Amino acid sequence: MAADVPTMLAMIVVSSLMMAASMAVVGRGRRSDGLARWAVALLLTAIGHTLIMLRGVVPDVLSVVLGNVLLSGVFVGLIAAIYQFQGRPARWPLLLAPPALVLGFVVVFIDNFAARVSFVGLVVGLQAVWALATALESRHATVGRGQWLLVAGLGLEAAVLGVRALLALSSTAVASGILQASLLQTLTFLATFSVVLISTMGFVFMARDRADENNRIMAAIDPLTGVANRRSLIAALDRDVSRAVRMREPIALMMVDIDHFKRVNDRYGHPVGDQVLCSVVNVLRGRVRAQDLVGRYGGEEFMVVLPDTTLLGAEQLARELCRAVAESRCRIGTVEGPEARADNRAEPGGGTNIAVTVSIGVFGGRLESGDSWDMLIAAADRALYEAKENGRNRVEVAMALRRPAAQRAVLDNPDTHPVSRY
Ligand code: GH3
Ligand code: MG
Ligand code: MG
Repeated sequence: MAADVPTMLAMIVVSSLMMAASMAVVGRGRRSDGLARWAVALLLTAIGHTLIMLRGVVPDVLSVVLGNVLLSGVFVGLIAAIYQFQGRPARWPLLLAPPALVLGFVVVFIDNFAARVSFVGLVVGLQAVWALATALESRHATVGRGQWLLVAGLGLEAAVLGVRALLALSSTAVASGILQASLLQTLTFLATFSVVLISTMGFVFMARDRADENNRIMAAIDPLTGVANRRSLIAALDRDVSRAVRMREPIALMMVDIDHFKRVNDRYGHPVGDQVLCSVVNVLRGRVRAQDLVGRYGGEEFMVVLPDTTLLGAEQLARELCRAVAESRCRIGTVEGPEARADNRAEPGGGTNIAVTVSIGVFGGRLESGDSWDMLIAAADRALYEAKENGRNRVEVAMALRRPAAQRAVLDNPDTHPVSRY
């Protein structure tokens, strides 16, 4: 089974060019993903194989010397692209050593086809192993299954080039010229064709998975404070409420609101207000358990979801949080404005410490079927309102949920809802 070599080379050239063009379009403005470097590697694949295809038509220095150097250069581009994807600097002198070796060897052994095939196969095969090992260094856990396509492609290339390097040493296995059909040539170029397709698809999927992951994070996290945003808070609360109903476990929820925060903004300005928000979040985060979720519900209002927590436990924690925030200070640099100037003298070396307090509304207890996340938020919100009414910097609790009349009727009827009695 020996396929026509120029046809296979043309397939490689066309597919590499198509993919390079597609990646150049997709990779525009996404330098950090390494797509542009990968596209350059594909372009080198196309040029290198074109030069090999033109063996005898163009001078040997182009077809043999430059062609082989470019084939090794392809892997320089691929490895550099993987480095860039992983956020690592490319070590160019090391990366460029293999093509330099190929250049030297091919120039010296320009008339020895078997030695050339063997040496170039060995060097490029080792480069494929290098690329494979780099791809397996999973510094970014979000690369998903695309990584396995990439690894499969590079593994195939390394294996075929290794076999080629070995077989080239026995004179019968290698045809007398690169364009002559032989099983080895068919195997090599089919592998190259497959590798171009598989690895490129793998790399594109890796970049796409990374972008998806970044989007997921951006959709779930509040950019200022780095905690869960309202959307992911509600999703988590909804999940925990369902679980609490199913498992008959208690659940608690806190609404935390900074007292007189408007004054902080008015006195120090919005950017300082932002720092104070982050500092309050740090206090809250530092004191909750691993299974609890702190999030920003909106503005200067935060929510803490406490699965498997009784009202008593939540109330104790809320008092602790209230005290901790009151005792903490947000240290900021020198502040501007006539009113704030006195504050700057408060600290040696300038700058000031800002103190704020919070009011917390707590709901906690066991739920009944039909209870939903919005009822918990409403209850904690009522308690928060009370805390504000009663003077701020304090905790108030909501003892019960306000259930709709229809749900109450079902729960109160022992025939329709026997579980409500225990
Ligand atoms: P209260 O004790 O009744 O809660 O008084 P308050 O001043 O905290 O409440 P109010 O709702 O009147 O003001 C909330 C302020 O929070 C108003 C708004 O400018 C500020 N705020 C909301 N989001 C942000 C933010 O992202 N950054 C900053 N710096 N301020 C914010
Ligand atoms: Mg407030
Ligand atoms: Mg508020």
